[in-house]
Amino acid sequence: MQNIIIFFLFATALFAFLFRLSAKSRKKKFIEELPGDYKILLLQNVMFYQKLSEPYKLQFEERVQHFLSSVRITGVGTEVEDIDRVLIGASAIIPIFAFPDWEYINLHEILLYPETFNEQFEQTGNDRPVMGMIGSGALNHVMILSKHALREGFSNKTDKNNTALHEFVHLIDKTDGDTDGIPEVFLQHRYILPWVEMMRKNIKDIMQDRSDINPYGATNQAEFFAVVSEYFFERPDLMQRKHPELYNMLEAIFKKDEVDNS
Ligand SMILES: [Zn+2]
Repeated sequence: MQNIIIFFLFATALFAFLFRLSAKSRKKKFIEELPGDYKILLLQNVMFYQKLSEPYKLQFEERVQHFLSSVRITGVGTEVEDIDRVLIGASAIIPIFAFPDWEYINLHEILLYPETFNEQFEQTGNDRPVMGMIGSGALNHVMILSKHALREGFSNKTDKNNTALHEFVHLIDKTDGDTDGIPEVFLQHRYILPWVEMMRKNIKDIMQDRSDINPYGATNQAEFFAVVSEYFFERPDLMQRKHPELYNMLEAIFKKDEVDNS
C-alpha cells in the first residue's frame, strides 16, 4: 500500500513539473523581444520610459512588443515607420502599465493618416480639426490617428497634449460600456462620487477661464478625463503643483505610485 502511495505522489510531482515546463515554453514563445532599434527610439522619445528603473524598462518593452504583435497598424496615404509603431505602442502601454494583465480587447486596428481629418475621415478641405478618434459603427474596434499629431505628442516636452494617449484613455473609459469619464474598471467604487464631483468642479473652472487645463476638456466628462490624463502623463510635476487633488485622484486611477515607488 505504501508503495502505491509513494508511486502516486511521485507521478503527481512529475506531472506538475512537466506541466510547468510546457507552460513556460508556451510563454516564452509568446513574448518576442522588442527589436533593438525600437528600444533606442523609446529611450530617445518617451519620457515615461526614460524614467523607469531597468527591470520596469524591460517589462515596458515586453508589453509594447506584445501590443504591436496583437494590433494591426495601417497607413492610409502615408508610410508607417518604426518611430510611429514605437510611439503608438508606448501610448497604449503608458496608461495601463500598472495593470499587467490588461489587454485592449476593443481594438483590432489603427489607421494612421498623415495629417488631421474631419469627422467623415476626409483628409482634404478646410474643416479638418480631428487629430485622433475611436471608431464606431462599421469602424468599431478601429482607432484613427494623425501621424503628425502622434509625433507632435512626444516631441513637444512643454505642452500638456498627447493625442494618441488621449485616444487610448477613451478606450479604457469605454471598456465598461460607457465612454463617460468614469473608468469603472480602474476606479474603486468609493472614489466614483468624489471623482464625478471633481470633474464637475474642474469643468466649471475651465468654462469660467480659471484653469490651465486644455479647454477641450470642458466638452464633456469623457473629454475631461482624456485631456487631464494627457496632462497627468505629460507634465506630472506641473499638475501636482497646480492641481494636487486632481493629481492624487489620477494617481489612484492609474496606480502610478506603485510603479514610481518600487
Ligand atoms: Zn477625445
